[in-house]
Amino acid sequence: MIVLEYKIKGKQHQFQAIDEAIRTGQFVRNKALRYWMDNQGVNKYDLNKYCAVLAKKFDFADKLNSTARQSSAERAWAGISRFFENCKKRRDPASPSGARERSTRQQIKRKKCYPKFKKYSRSVEYKKSGWKLDESTKKHITFTDKNKIGRVKLVGSRDIYFYQPEQIKRVRLVRRADGYYVQFGIAIEVKEDMQPTGRAIGLDVGLQFFYTDNFGYTEENPRFYRKSEKRLNRLGRRLSRKYRNPNKGKSGKLMVKNSQQRQSSNYHKARVAKAKQHLRVSRQREEHAKKLARCVCASNDCIVYEDLKVKNLVRNRKLSKSINDAGWTQFRKWVEYFGWKFGKITVAVPPHFTSQDCPACEKRVKKSLSTRTHACDCGCVLPRDQASAILILKKGLNTVGHTGIYAWGDTPSWAVGASLSSNGESLN
Ligand SMILES: [Zn+2]
Repeated sequence: MIVLEYKIKGKQHQFQAIDEAIRTGQFVRNKALRYWMDNQGVNKYDLNKYCAVLAKKFDFADKLNSTARQSSAERAWAGISRFFENCKKRRDPASPSGARERSTRQQIKRKKCYPKFKKYSRSVEYKKSGWKLDESTKKHITFTDKNKIGRVKLVGSRDIYFYQPEQIKRVRLVRRADGYYVQFGIAIEVKEDMQPTGRAIGLDVGLQFFYTDNFGYTEENPRFYRKSEKRLNRLGRRLSRKYRNPNKGKSGKLMVKNSQQRQSSNYHKARVAKAKQHLRVSRQREEHAKKLARCVCASNDCIVYEDLKVKNLVRNRKLSKSINDAGWTQFRKWVEYFGWKFGKITVAVPPHFTSQDCPACEKRVKKSLSTRTHACDCGCVLPRDQASAILILKKGLNTVGHTGIYAWGDTPSWAVGASLSSNGESLN
């Protein structure tokens, strides 16, 4: 399944109709959830049937296409089944004993996720009916249900022209800070045939550089968030000022509690401006991660990286902004995607001591964060990040059991020199 996304060009009343559809979808989802909570033994099919009941009962629910109602109910069911899954995991007897069991239990308990009612849905999903693409150009889409969204223009470069209408399984309307979008879920397998390159690569991600590979190449860290932080802060200040100055002399604290009070239009302008800026930063980060990952996967057969738990790292408050900003999670996601697409091997290795051990003799060489070079007694001197990238690559090749399969076209630059000859057998 691939997703093609277009921005929508339309009239104000059409956007209002889309909002209405999103709200109805949310209503159906929440009602379905309520129905499940109030009645014992309700299953997925009961929820689907319940959609028709809702449509009879509420006029506005009837306006939404029946498949869109159903997929809203399916969303509710997705939340419910996730909850069941988590409950099952919690009862799993295969967990380790003693105090550790209690701590893992607590962890899982926290993550049980009893389904919640949604308040701020941003999208609604149609299946195979309720919409129609313009036959000839496919540059317009018409929504045919009673919601009166009507015909809107699709703006975007990715051409849906190539796909048959039967291949489009889902159409989703999405609201973002800068407008409305339509996404087409298309059922095809996109795998590209790539010539093998005979190269494997180890990547060490870091804050100084986005990544360093085992050949010593470093990729700059783009720091998108840092670059627009000033602007974001300014927008944030404008927002908070609007909060603290309520009309008719109420104190600021009262104002925050009283959510019924309407905010000024300037407040909402500032809110939208800030959301747009955040959206911009996250898009830049995503694009950058995608571009790099594609490049790495195209020019290597095996990509090894650390299995970093970014969530845990972000708890370090001094570094959290930089870590979030780097976008490693996105990068990894795209590496795995392109690896799959190009038929390459991607390996995540446990990150223990990858920055400490010597890549040549595997002795532990303790160093602090500020030490930038790795220098071992065995004579191996390398930049710190490159040393860990080499180690990561070695770990990865050992775990996949692909040692010796890879035909190395030429000896990698770091393998030249006496310091590595003792370990040469794992390379050829
Ligand atoms: Zn050494």
